[in-house]
Amino acid sequence: MRPEELSRTLERLLPGVQKPARYAGGELNQTVKDWDRVPLRVALAFPDIYELGMSNLGLAILYDIVNRQPDALAERAFSTWPDMEAAMRATGLPLFSLETRHPLSDFDVLGISLPYETLFTNALNMLDLAGIPLLTADRGSTDPLVVAGGHACYNPEPMAPFIDAFVIGEGEEVILDILACVRAWKGGGQSREALLRHLAGVWGVYVPSLYRVHYHADGTLQQVEALFPEARLPVIKRIVAKLPPPLTRLIVPYLDIAHNRIPIEIMRGCTRGCRFCQAGMITRPVRERPVEEVVEGIERALAETGFEQVGLLSLSSSDYDDILELVRAVSARFADRHLDLSLPSLRIETFSVELMDLLQGNSHRSGFTLAPEAATERMREIINKPVSTQQLLETARAIYQHGWHTIKLYFMIGHPSETLEDVQAIADLCKAVLAEGRQLIGNRAKVTAGVSTFIPKPHTPFQWVPCDTLEQIQAKQALLKRQLRGRGLKLNWNHPQETMLEAWLSRGDRRMGEVIYRAWQRGARFDAWSEHFQYDAWLQAFQEADLDPAFYTHRDRPIDEIFPWDHIDAAVKKQFLTEDYLWSLRGKTRVDCRERCFACGILPKFAELRRSNPGEVWECPEVRSPSRKRAAEVIPLVPA
Ligand code: SF4
Repeated sequence: MRPEELSRTLERLLPGVQKPARYAGGELNQTVKDWDRVPLRVALAFPDIYELGMSNLGLAILYDIVNRQPDALAERAFSTWPDMEAAMRATGLPLFSLETRHPLSDFDVLGISLPYETLFTNALNMLDLAGIPLLTADRGSTDPLVVAGGHACYNPEPMAPFIDAFVIGEGEEVILDILACVRAWKGGGQSREALLRHLAGVWGVYVPSLYRVHYHADGTLQQVEALFPEARLPVIKRIVAKLPPPLTRLIVPYLDIAHNRIPIEIMRGCTRGCRFCQAGMITRPVRERPVEEVVEGIERALAETGFEQVGLLSLSSSDYDDILELVRAVSARFADRHLDLSLPSLRIETFSVELMDLLQGNSHRSGFTLAPEAATERMREIINKPVSTQQLLETARAIYQHGWHTIKLYFMIGHPSETLEDVQAIADLCKAVLAEGRQLIGNRAKVTAGVSTFIPKPHTPFQWVPCDTLEQIQAKQALLKRQLRGRGLKLNWNHPQETMLEAWLSRGDRRMGEVIYRAWQRGARFDAWSEHFQYDAWLQAFQEADLDPAFYTHRDRPIDEIFPWDHIDAAVKKQFLTEDYLWSLRGKTRVDCRERCFACGILPKFAELRRSNPGEVWECPEVRSPSRKRAAEVIPLVPA
């Protein structure tokens, strides 16, 4: 369908659907290039609604990078809400890009962002609505190359049948390598397989169709076999040596999105070593952005967007080396602008309260968030987030004293070896925090407990641990619902069935692709949205695929089991994860690895990058000369 015809149909549909601005495009700072003059065309798709996709920093960064290439363009596409999908299917309107309203099938590359697993069925739905064959095996030379990236791709196997190439790791440089492959291939008369084989040679790219998976009779994984010489084993994640300059030319939407703010990433990676945290393991090494670059980035972004909120993003803000200097510099430079500045993920210590105090000045103080994750010191040692209850209560007192009325406390249930006493302790701790608040500010004090359920994610020290069953989760939640009621207390929790789905999808093997496909056929969409989530469709899909959901989630795993994601190398060694898991069983903790390097595996993998970026940019120790063994494992500075 030509863009003009598509536009005419679209304009007839828009008045009849919710939030038409989701599909209209035309925002400030969007980039519209001349389609006919630009040979390389990339559609960047986020498989959820506009409001969420437009708040995704990764997508915005890739959009900027591709559009900076003179011979390439990037345009955006998001999932359509069911009312719009129905209207599009009824009128035969294919899924299109916002900038020039070209069908997604017209692009050379369709890049799908998969930051979390519950987007998988929406990704299939986008392909279907775009008229692109769902299975990579069914795509021909005129179909776009379908690439996916994001944290959910660290176990790519469940989506392997649908994705031509996965990006494992950070996208800022690899996107240009992928474009170089497509540029060389396009018009050269070579087969699609030739392109895929070429891509498989790029550092950080995994092409699943070039591998075959073998299973034992009991269903566990036996081996992943590379079918072509270009198919590497393992596939090592891609990283950038240092953070590229922050994105400042952000698109300014016409409707409220999830985060109406300037996101400035101040640090990537985390050295804390919380054993449940996948992000903390897969984003190592820690690389920090210099203070001046953050301040200048905010300045430029304010000028280019007019936003009034700024988020200083990282996994653990208090760990940023010059955090006090940063907060002082930002507060001083923007004191007269009345900006709403946020600094998420602060450690549980009174220093964090002082930081927020300094950063927020006299602005409105909503909730202050702390994430103890577990309520007993024993449990916090198991998960490697050691903080004493006394320290937590002191911090809570400081928060109430400094003008905040609500403290949000994040916990997880389902940690390894957790008992009902540990769950009861969550309620007790919330009440103890509230009691501190009552003493200081009376009935204005509030506590909100956000209690999610632990999922043993790939590439973490807890990847061997079984999940709680539905019944166990329900019993623990019932206890919390009974205990956490009354004035000043609020409880938020996740639906156990939604937790099950996330666990299946994040721990699945390649056979899970059939389950995803069948669930999608049965109407599964927007699985991350409670009102759309269809648990029964998933159970039926498992039945039809002749797979047992409990196999993926509730099984004890031997320490030497081969996982479906073991051929994906997140650079932290499995041997390190194994040791850390065994330590957890003894309640043994590790200090922050800024204080002492535990040789987790990052440095041998990226020794050359570290050596060429000496000094403070990385938090890992410097590498001086390569040992012979390390030299053999080193990633080349210039990708294949
Ligand atoms: S190499 Fe050492 S310092 Fe770097 S992330 Fe691993 S344990 Fe931490």
